[in-house]
Amino acid sequence: AGTSLLTPSDIRELSNKLGIRPTKTLGQNFVGDGGTVRKIVSHAGVSEGDRVLEIGPGLGSLTLALLEAGAFVSAVEIDPKLAAALPETVNARHDRPERFAVAQFDALQLADNELAVPPELDAFVPTHLVANLPYNVAVPAILTALEHLPSLHIVDVMVQLEVAERLAAKPGSRVYGVPSVKAAWYAEAARGPLISRSVFWPVPNVDSALVRFDRRQEPDADRELVFKVIDGAFAQRRKTLRQSLASWAGSPARAEEILRSAGIDPALRGEKLTIEDFVAIAEASQA
Ligand code: SAM
Repeated sequence: AGTSLLTPSDIRELSNKLGIRPTKTLGQNFVGDGGTVRKIVSHAGVSEGDRVLEIGPGLGSLTLALLEAGAFVSAVEIDPKLAAALPETVNARHDRPERFAVAQFDALQLADNELAVPPELDAFVPTHLVANLPYNVAVPAILTALEHLPSLHIVDVMVQLEVAERLAAKPGSRVYGVPSVKAAWYAEAARGPLISRSVFWPVPNVDSALVRFDRRQEPDADRELVFKVIDGAFAQRRKTLRQSLASWAGSPARAEEILRSAGIDPALRGEKLTIEDFVAIAEASQA
């Protein structure tokens, strides 16, 4: 009773039946391992009654594990064939299919689309985003969701290992960069367990890891302006802030003046600065 998760042979059979040829462009690698999807659900702390947004449900592997944990799930899938097939899979394998709904659109267009509402609910306000994200749009998908869905307080997703490390990196780390600082605007990020490539079909040529974001109070500042400073500071990684922020500020001298009034050494590189430092620079530029 309850829920029947997808096995590797279910993945093959479903793909065949639907005529799905997994594509790299859409990052279509499907998980056929119950242990892995249950691990993602427990890492995200999903429990009975939670409202979960899933991006890229694919054949439904993670969807079923979320439903098994008692969640209401609203999924966003770009591939029309996959989106159309999901309700039937959920009906056949879970005893409360009315807790699930799916919409077909590009998750990067979250701002312009409505999430589907599971029949058992009157409205859907997600508190969790849980997903095995398509590799090529993972970072923009996370940032878009954090920006447009303020109700999300936990985002826990599987991404390529390097991307997970980059997103959770702290200032001074070799892999600290634009995604790390922008994510830090919205949330505290922490890398989670490694996931072997062998749980996927087809098997990708990289390993994956979980990364979890716990939303924090956003800085009281102009986000667009702060993000421009961040983009400028990292556009030329090897340069000092005085140089890298010159074109944003108008000149190296003006960049230096702004940095000094923000209390930041103009000879540093962007990779040393926290999100609060970037906020201070943005504010100093307006003073
Ligand atoms: N969740 C499934 C699993 O764990 O087996 C599938 C994960 S697969 C890595 C990524 C899924 O995201 C695919 O189903 C793909 O079609 C979908 N996808 C790719 N780009 C997308 C986008 N921009 N918006 C929504 N879904 C997308």
